[in-house]
Amino acid sequence: MKFSDMKISDKTLKSLETLNYIQPTEVQEKVIPLLLENKEVVVRSQTGTGKTAAFGIGVIEEIAKNKNKKSLILAPTRELAIQITKELRAIASNHRLRIFVVYGGEDIGRQFHMLKMGYDIVVATPGRLLDHFRRGTIDLSSFNIIVLDEADRMLDMGFIDDINTILDHVNLERKVLMFSATINEDIKRISKNYMMEPVMVEIGNMAPVASIEEKYIKLNRHEKFGALIDIIRQEPFSRIIIFVATQRAAEYVGDKLAFGKINAGYLHGGLRQNKREKIVRDFREGRFRILVATDVAARGLHVDEVSHIINYDEANDADTHTHRIGRTGRMGKAGKAITFVELDRVERGPRGFSRSGPGRGNFSRGGGRGGPSHRSGGGGRRPETRDRRYATHSAPRTGEKKKNPYEHIGEKVSKD
Ligand code: AMP
Repeated sequence: MKFSDMKISDKTLKSLETLNYIQPTEVQEKVIPLLLENKEVVVRSQTGTGKTAAFGIGVIEEIAKNKNKKSLILAPTRELAIQITKELRAIASNHRLRIFVVYGGEDIGRQFHMLKMGYDIVVATPGRLLDHFRRGTIDLSSFNIIVLDEADRMLDMGFIDDINTILDHVNLERKVLMFSATINEDIKRISKNYMMEPVMVEIGNMAPVASIEEKYIKLNRHEKFGALIDIIRQEPFSRIIIFVATQRAAEYVGDKLAFGKINAGYLHGGLRQNKREKIVRDFREGRFRILVATDVAARGLHVDEVSHIINYDEANDADTHTHRIGRTGRMGKAGKAITFVELDRVERGPRGFSRSGPGRGNFSRGGGRGGPSHRSGGGGRRPETRDRRYATHSAPRTGEKKKNPYEHIGEKVSKD
């Protein structure tokens, strides 16, 4: 099937051609026709499968035909909101639609001004959108097509009350479209409370995800940086994202790479918004090809040609692991995910982990293939989830030498 076989307007088809989207992906093939028939959908699909364009095309087609309709798209992070906005603007480039993004960390006055000018589509993170709602700078009842993107992630991030409040105030004559990597009880509850008769769409683990080769390396904590350097020096790569557990670890590893004359950037939630945007842009444009990041970057970061994911610090849970490694292997390209498994962590019981550890015996020895993989049908799930508790530590004072965050087993760390 081609996009031109669907009932999509010539204006949209033209921009899809410019974007070089010829063949719809599975999620697009299944979801777009339903949206064109005005159906509500709950879609289980991973990132990297083309879901943004799936709802994007549906929403744009409907609004282009009915100028009195407006759409609200909710996303968990500002990075994802910005990316969605970019893609929607590209798809809508031949229509005259006003598409704005609203997220925390940016001057609210500027957003207020923008909203006052009028809009057709608003992409927003829930917290900032509610800020506008409470200040009376946005009329939620103006929205009649609502998209919840990465709904499970928004719930994980504690946005459930915000989402309920928003859905309670949007137009009564509305349509809700929900996209989520996992469908759990909370997701089902939202769909039961706010949707009429949604069509459930299941997207299998597609080629983009299945093409990730996973490898686990067991080592001691102090060996991690050396192992990282070995990988960087020995593996041919296009781009690498290195995931770490804390903001301080991101800076520490980033700085240490830079000290070793390895061109790398770091990204975490403690950086100013414009700095974060610049880092993502520089990484995307290839000004550096190694990015050290906390989980703030684990979802929704669309950078093509990420050949390697390195879990320098393991993810806290299976879903985060899945989303981290989903940054590679996008749109069918091969990717490799390497996870460092700390041997000394289990024995020493660091950072609130249970001493029994996560069943290490299930991991392949010596870093071979065969760790939990998407292909197993387990969605990349780790053998078991551990309970890691966080507390805040005081930030280093200016001028103070940065401490090695890997030196103090059992120290308290800040959550990103
Ligand atoms: P998403 O799942 O929305 O994060 O999309 C992943 C990537 O696939 C994005 O970089 C899109 O630009 C790209 N993409 C989406 N649909 C298509 C398509 N039909 N053909 C080629 N690339 C696509």
